[in-house]
Amino acid sequence: MNNKKIWLSLAQMGGTEQKYIQEAFDTNWIVPLGPNVNGFEAELKSYLTTEESTQSEKQVVALSAGTAALHLALIMCGVGVGDEVICQSFTFAASANPITYLGATPVFVDSEEETWNICPTLLRTAIEERIKVTGKVPKAIIPVHLYGVPAKMKEILEIAREYGIAVIEDAAEALGSEYLLDGERVRCGMMGTYGVLSFNGNKMITTSGGGALVTPNREMAQRAMFLATQARDNAPHYQHTEIGYNYRMSNICAGIGRGQMEVLEHHLEQRRGNHRFYCEHLKGVPGISVYQQPAEGFDSNYWLSCITIDKAVTGYDREELRLRMDAAGIETRPLWKPLHLQPVFEKVPKYVNGVSERLFDSGLCLPSGSALTEEDLLRVCAVIK
Ligand SMILES: *Cc1c(COP(=O)(O)O)cnc(C)c1O
Repeated sequence: MNNKKIWLSLAQMGGTEQKYIQEAFDTNWIVPLGPNVNGFEAELKSYLTTEESTQSEKQVVALSAGTAALHLALIMCGVGVGDEVICQSFTFAASANPITYLGATPVFVDSEEETWNICPTLLRTAIEERIKVTGKVPKAIIPVHLYGVPAKMKEILEIAREYGIAVIEDAAEALGSEYLLDGERVRCGMMGTYGVLSFNGNKMITTSGGGALVTPNREMAQRAMFLATQARDNAPHYQHTEIGYNYRMSNICAGIGRGQMEVLEHHLEQRRGNHRFYCEHLKGVPGISVYQQPAEGFDSNYWLSCITIDKAVTGYDREELRLRMDAAGIETRPLWKPLHLQPVFEKVPKYVNGVSERLFDSGLCLPSGSALTEEDLLRVCAVIK
């Protein structure tokens, strides 16, 4: 039997990344900013703006990380000391950490069963109660498209509009996912007031480390670039009237990103293919359910394929399966631990319905990289069976 280690989600290079990096070396653009950064931003923008999309005003700003994009989005939403920001609880800590950088408080809201993302009903409850308790409207809402499955954006955007709250769409895991919004197919990252993408090593595409912010228009893109380059005023000397950050993407990283854009479609096909394979081969295995997008209009990139385990049926729990997989040389990972259960967020307000806790207890992410072979996938399924 083949004992090659099977990893959860490895980066896969397309081959042309080095061409763009070589160009940067040849022209001595080894700095933040440069032709690759401009090129990468233009390519991302054109990819995200689907033909049907009427949102051509939107702009993309390449940054050093998805976390940096969240931080700048919060600043541009006016979040500051003493404010509250509503955040999906079932997500990676990076979705919420930047709220605390600004002296604001995250308020965690649990998920619903269909998309595993923020529950619109509970979101409304949370907003109404926060207004009662604090006398202030939360400054922003951060829904997440977890594992690539779009959140219920129609309902979320309606609630946000009703209360006049900005939406920061965390699409770090959802590059290539699509959602049917008012009859129009829209790519994830393009629906909120701001959108956040990540190009970390294990995401849909990588720049070795990096992210991007989708802004509503050119003016806000310029504001983001200003803040991301140390908030330097227009003067011959170094002049500052605001606090800035060093968040711009380097021309080298952007070169990797441009190469990766050429293979994004391939990565999407591969990851969706992995998911189809798991659905077919694990169908009918008692107690194992492969997680699927809920209905028409929720088009996941299937960044990671996940299963839930019904211990009453299987006789084993997710941790026993994870250890068995590990012994067989297969890396799997529990689903995100809800942020309202994280020790660091112990004292933070939360609106909980039990969904994310149950998913955390019973769920496992399966190997989902774009370079997995049929033999790899068969090995994974064999251990489960
Ligand atoms: C990866 C990730 C981020 C952070 O992106 P970085 O580029 O690693 O900073 C934010 N939110 C979610 C849901 C993520 O998975």
